[in-house]
Amino acid sequence: MSEFEKILCSFCGRNKQDTNILIAGNAAHICDACIEQAHDIVKEDAISKKTLSEDFKLLKPKAIKNHLDDYIIGQNDVKKVISVAVYNHYKRLLQPDIGKDDVDIEKSNIIMVGRTGTGKTLIARTIAKLLKVPFCIADATVLTEAGYVGEDVESILTRLLQAADYDVQKAKKGIVFIDEIDKVARKSDNPSITRDVSGEGVQQAMLKLLEGTIVNVPPQGGRKHPDQKMIEVDTKDILFISGGAFDGIEQYISKRMNSRSIGFRSEKESVIDNQDLLKYVSPQDLKSFGLIPELIGRMPVVSYLNPLDKMALKQILTEPKNALIKQYQKLFDIEGITLTFDKKAIDIIVEQAMELQLGARGLRSICEAIMLDAMFEFPSDDSKKKLCVTQSYVKDQISKFSFTKLKAA
Ligand code: ADP
Repeated sequence: MSEFEKILCSFCGRNKQDTNILIAGNAAHICDACIEQAHDIVKEDAISKKTLSEDFKLLKPKAIKNHLDDYIIGQNDVKKVISVAVYNHYKRLLQPDIGKDDVDIEKSNIIMVGRTGTGKTLIARTIAKLLKVPFCIADATVLTEAGYVGEDVESILTRLLQAADYDVQKAKKGIVFIDEIDKVARKSDNPSITRDVSGEGVQQAMLKLLEGTIVNVPPQGGRKHPDQKMIEVDTKDILFISGGAFDGIEQYISKRMNSRSIGFRSEKESVIDNQDLLKYVSPQDLKSFGLIPELIGRMPVVSYLNPLDKMALKQILTEPKNALIKQYQKLFDIEGITLTFDKKAIDIIVEQAMELQLGARGLRSICEAIMLDAMFEFPSDDSKKKLCVTQSYVKDQISKFSFTKLKAA
């Protein structure tokens, strides 16, 4: 064997004669192919760090909460909890030495409990917009265990990739909002009776995703099939925020709180208002409701949203930066039409929304119905430059619609 043949690349083991160039170092050699590969790795790492540090500005919890206050009425507790959780999450990502010492800061995925239309999605969306990270909403009700009719859990990430324009590095630091997480609660106490493919099966499938794993994502969504090209996405830095109405969870909260207070009944505990029970929601209640402990463990931050009362609905209609009334006014203003709403007209809209029991979601449907005629007629009539929505106008318009079909079940 000639001396020429004995010199090898210390990385891939190639012979010198099989390489274009072999560079000698201190008791080691590296070939051109390995240099290129190493260069790619360094470059990719730099890009992944840059994605967060360049166009990303991490605001302090108070600043995040202040921003949320501009858009979301009330819900102070959840806004505070979420501001801290989001701040900690991204602070963790910005640490260059993450995981290098013994202290590994864990992810703080969040679970929000609150009736429909109280602002869960809005909070998650507002935060993502503020931080300029990709955001997507996934509906837990369409997910099923792999192999069954419905969507695989991985399809959640397809949406995130789409929101990030298929920039994997950006998607890896995005926020996923999983809506209606309560609908994947275990259907029965005895899972062996029938396969619970859309309940516990989905919860099991979600575990890895929430914790952090490399997932093969079908770029176009749908079911995975063998010839499809997959995109690898590491979920360890994705923040998962989930929300659900958890209808009836109050009974578990009250049961837990009552049993705890037996023998030690303090005055404070005995005056707990049943209406207010949600604010005491704990991981244990989520478990009683049917979420598996492993899933709850991966969403350590639990918070709640209050049902919206008349006052809150009224504020929602008029106060936030993009309040519904302001949106309609802008829409009309574009065509040079001045739109105003009487106080009493607003009261009626709010009353109607309370009846629908759809939270603030009802406001939108009602306003659309009230404004429909005007939005139909005004654009083609140049003489109409002013509309004042009064109590009688609202009553008139409402009488044309049947809202009962919208009513919450
Ligand atoms: P959900 O709790 O069901 O996710 P959403 O966040 O989707 O409810 O709310 C539906 C709509 O109602 C939002 O787009 C927003 O316009 C309005 N809304 C709900 N809650 C609030 C709130 N607390 N403050 C301001 N707007 C709200």
